[in-house]
Amino acid sequence: MSEVEVFPVPAEWAKRAHLDQAAYEAACRRVEADPTGFWTDVARRLDWMTFPTEIKDVSFNKEDFHIRWYGDGILNVSVNCLDRHLATRGDQTAIIWEADDPHISTKLTYKELHARVCRMANVLKAKGVRKGDRVTIYLPMIPDAAVAMLACARIGAVHSVVFGGFSPDSIAGRIQDCDSKLVITADEGLRGGKVVPLKLNVDEALKTCPGVTDVIVIRRTQAEVPMTAGRDHFYSDLKDSVSDRCDPEPMNAEDPLFILYTSGSTGKPKGVLHTTGGYLAWASYTHELVFDYRPGEVFWCTADVGWVTGHSYVVYGPLANAATTVIFEGVPNYPTSSRFWEVCDRHQVEIFYTAPTAIRALMREGDAPVKATSRKSIRLLGTVGEPINPEAWLWYHRVVGEERCPIVDTWWQTETGATLMSPLPGATALKPGSCTKPLPGVKPQLVDADGKVLEGAINGNLCLTDSWPGQMRTVYGDHQRFFDTYFSTYPGKYFTGDGARRDEDGYYWITGRVDDVINVSGHRLGTAEIESALVGHDGVAEAAVVGYPHEIKGQGIYCYVTLRTDVEPSDSIRADLRQWVRREIGPFAAPDVIQFAPGLPKTRSGKIMRRILRKIAEDDLSNLGDTSTLADPAVVDDLVKNRGHRR
Ligand code: ATP
Ligand code: MG
Repeated sequence: MSEVEVFPVPAEWAKRAHLDQAAYEAACRRVEADPTGFWTDVARRLDWMTFPTEIKDVSFNKEDFHIRWYGDGILNVSVNCLDRHLATRGDQTAIIWEADDPHISTKLTYKELHARVCRMANVLKAKGVRKGDRVTIYLPMIPDAAVAMLACARIGAVHSVVFGGFSPDSIAGRIQDCDSKLVITADEGLRGGKVVPLKLNVDEALKTCPGVTDVIVIRRTQAEVPMTAGRDHFYSDLKDSVSDRCDPEPMNAEDPLFILYTSGSTGKPKGVLHTTGGYLAWASYTHELVFDYRPGEVFWCTADVGWVTGHSYVVYGPLANAATTVIFEGVPNYPTSSRFWEVCDRHQVEIFYTAPTAIRALMREGDAPVKATSRKSIRLLGTVGEPINPEAWLWYHRVVGEERCPIVDTWWQTETGATLMSPLPGATALKPGSCTKPLPGVKPQLVDADGKVLEGAINGNLCLTDSWPGQMRTVYGDHQRFFDTYFSTYPGKYFTGDGARRDEDGYYWITGRVDDVINVSGHRLGTAEIESALVGHDGVAEAAVVGYPHEIKGQGIYCYVTLRTDVEPSDSIRADLRQWVRREIGPFAAPDVIQFAPGLPKTRSGKIMRRILRKIAEDDLSNLGDTSTLADPAVVDDLVKNRGHRR
């Protein structure tokens, strides 16, 4: 392997940070010595109606399996995100909205946001929504999406946000699964200049959802959409008949806050349920630490609120911390590939957080669209969603951040509520491609296939031996599935499904899903490792690697490679890539098949779906599995048509 470059903590970050290295280490020691004191302090960052005395009550064991945090505490999430800031920060901007059209942006202060949330809460109440009822939200990235989530939280309704890119079938499945009676949507959405027919999709979905009695429609484009009398209402017709004051519902810390379905990278999405107190404490704590956040700084997380990243780092974490949070309706490459950076300049974004898929896509377009912008306001960069290849990390660092901005590579899952492993900008030296170390209170462990605990520098299956407040509490409606999926593989531990390597400095490197590990002639190889090597080649924009049955080696290495826009596919570049991987990793890792792919199958959150690529590589075309979360099904047809020759 090539030498790993280490980026030390810049002195100014160590100085200004909430936690420098010594303080980080002290916090980790304190969790061990005085867990109750430590976790009580984490709870103190929230405003409680009744402060909890029961702090942590958890067992991962089958006999008495339960997870409770702050179990006798009473609070309301919307109060923590809004009301408590009004006295001192009522006129501060809470939300900057950047529309798909680059000429349109608006701002909402905390006072304005508070009034809008209360109004929508009252509208929901008037429609009969009560504490504990489920509400499905299917909206574009407009401030009303955050308003709708917070309005549910205010009255104790449980929201289920469905990403606006999902099809009618996927919406219907998610509505039926949690049995919502009310849907909040918009006439249409706009993404990259294209219209998304949200209301029409909902109409189609509701043909199989007889339980839905009301649909509230926000006007986004003003398009004419069919309205079913008695069921469908424009929000603009409802909002003026209610007050903009609404008493918050007192909620137990363990009352549900939301249900959210996972991305579907590995199979049918799971309805992850998060609760009120622990989730908010963890979202807020991690937002402050990982981004070294101070109230009023302009924070932009590009994730859609349809994903957990949008829940925790567009809405709940930032607003709980009195942030100015950016909500972006568009896409990275519209109208041009400079868009992200233009938005950063326009709104003086200080902290920018996005996904490797976006970074790789922009890197593919070269440096010029980045360099056309200033980006002087940016101090810190972040990434989440997939392992980031060192090559993409270095580009992000060098070109986007001009070597001035630390990068926080945050590893976490829908199930974990918020970040579990990440560098802290004032405490952790960076290694490109590593999510570095656990946050205080997080206890990762590597085990082998039989559950034997692995020590030292080694590869293994990533578990967590103890709980943290933001942990999911159940799979909605299927508690047995919750236990079976996460706690039965290695008894007494939470199994993440991810593989990881720990290096000699105790840094963690996520190697991909454990299911994606390839075994070539007895060598266990993480797909991320080979992909990183491929992307490290000048001609390659993106790569996905899977195994397929191979008579001699057990498994062969099948690589799908997307070349940069200015590179033509050829046999010579194929040979070159094979040599390249041999040199970077070792001869045993040399690809058996390289297929050039103009696009890769991705979930709608932008993650590569290796499960489908594996089926294509195995020639098992009748069995592609659940493709409902695929962003662009046409990509699969091309891959099938051009699938490579085995050797
Ligand atoms: P499903 O569980 O339905 O298959 P999913 O796992 O893609 O979908 P998410 O909860 O959105 O759904 O994603 C969590 C996963 O994303 C992690 O388990 C990990 O594999 C990957 N991931 C997230 N952040 C990082 C990161 N910083 N580095 C490496 N991998 C990451
Ligand atoms: Mg997952």
